[in-house]
Amino acid sequence: MYNHKMKKCDIIIIGGGAAGMMAGISASRKGGSVLIVEKNLKLGRKVLVTGNGRCNVTNRYADKSHYYGASPDFVEKVLSYFDQRQVMKFFENLGVLLKEEDNGRIFPRTNQAKTIVNALTEELEAKKVRIILGNPVRHLIKEKNLFQVKLQNSEEFIAAKIILTTGGKASEQCGTTGDGYAWAANFGHRITALYPALVPLETDERWPKAVQGLKLEAKISVTIGERVLAEKSGDVLFTHYGLSGLAVLALAGKAAPFLTEHKVKVHLDLFPEETHKNLDRKIAKIFDLNGKKSVKNSLAGAAPSNFIPIFLSNLRINPDKKAAEISKKERLKISAGFKNIVLAVSRARPFKEAQVTAGGVDANEIDPATMESKIVPGLYLAGEILDVDADSGGYNLQWAWSSGYLAGVSASK
Ligand SMILES: Cc1cc2nc3c(=O)[nH]c(=O)nc-3n(C[C@H](O)[C@H](O)[C@H](O)COP(=O)(O)OP(=O)(O)OC[C@H]3O[C@@H](n4cnc5c(N)ncnc54)[C@H](O)[C@@H]3O)c2cc1C
Repeated sequence: MYNHKMKKCDIIIIGGGAAGMMAGISASRKGGSVLIVEKNLKLGRKVLVTGNGRCNVTNRYADKSHYYGASPDFVEKVLSYFDQRQVMKFFENLGVLLKEEDNGRIFPRTNQAKTIVNALTEELEAKKVRIILGNPVRHLIKEKNLFQVKLQNSEEFIAAKIILTTGGKASEQCGTTGDGYAWAANFGHRITALYPALVPLETDERWPKAVQGLKLEAKISVTIGERVLAEKSGDVLFTHYGLSGLAVLALAGKAAPFLTEHKVKVHLDLFPEETHKNLDRKIAKIFDLNGKKSVKNSLAGAAPSNFIPIFLSNLRINPDKKAAEISKKERLKISAGFKNIVLAVSRARPFKEAQVTAGGVDANEIDPATMESKIVPGLYLAGEILDVDADSGGYNLQWAWSSGYLAGVSASK
């Protein structure tokens, strides 16, 4: 029931992160009253930690091929309303100079994420968007044609339009505790299974702890039995619990859905450019020329010296054995081992260590031309709350900017 204490707005945006701030700016263009309610004491807290504090704001090559969850057509349509070129122009028009780094990754020239958050905050203030900070939304319901929003301090608001941008569950220390999923579910939306993505992996094997901090270049494959789930070349970082590094994070989201039911394995090929035969020939030559050295010392030019003894021990070869005493069978084991170091994944690290959430509100229930719910008129959703996640490299923020912008424009019509 409505009461006289409830304050009225045209549009209420719940969650002042990347998508919510962008939605606030685009929603205010028609001059209606727009309110952003943010749980934290400042806007864009997660944006501030993106890109190691530098904010990889978008990617020159953002297209549907980098996105997962929702159908590629859905993602493509939403991106097309406010693509990476428009995002770059948008920030440049706010006075933010940008620069491009490897693989099309775009950063502010200041190398500071706060440049992005400050620019958005100032634009929201210039557009007279009302902002309430440090006061989370606790209840969201719809009665007749109006939404009722109740904050933690019991303040209540009503609005004909809501934009839900509460983000996912990843890195909940940034305020993203998944509150929006429950409201969306209460409104009848399906929430697909949620998994941490862009997240490190724990392994059954304990040996990575002995080389923690070591980074190797490898081709990584993630498998279940004979089935290859995904592959990627890049950095592997050994940690006290297992594996991290950019390439591992990138593959983790593909492994996570299978971890409870299947044994997922990670295979590291340290010499993807060599066939097994060629590599074995090279190792045979090393052993021939360095027969008096220990096998671990003779291989010190092939892989980092702190890795070799552990690698050999895992193959049950004594690292101190003379290279000349290594049998052909043992040598073949070594060359095959370099091309296929196998680790069994015990689990993904928890959501609080993940950069994004895979899964979310089923995108089939959202109109990609407006971001409006097909189930609840007047309810718009944008950003990570939806069943969309992406590769690392600026693609996740691009999703938040595109979908937030579109939701704001549509809600203000
Ligand atoms: C460590 C890290 C690094 C990252 N680096 C990058 C990168 O460089 N490039 C990239 O593209 N992506 C990066 N990402 C991912 C990117 O930050 C997110 O995908 C993006 O911020 C999602 O935008 P969003 O608006 O949907 O959610 P968020 O930005 O998470 O915003 C959601 C907001 O809603 C608020 N909220 C939640 N519940 C309530 C409530 N009940 N009431 C009021 N407010 C509420 C939260 O406090 C939060 O501020 C990174 C993520 C992490 C964790």
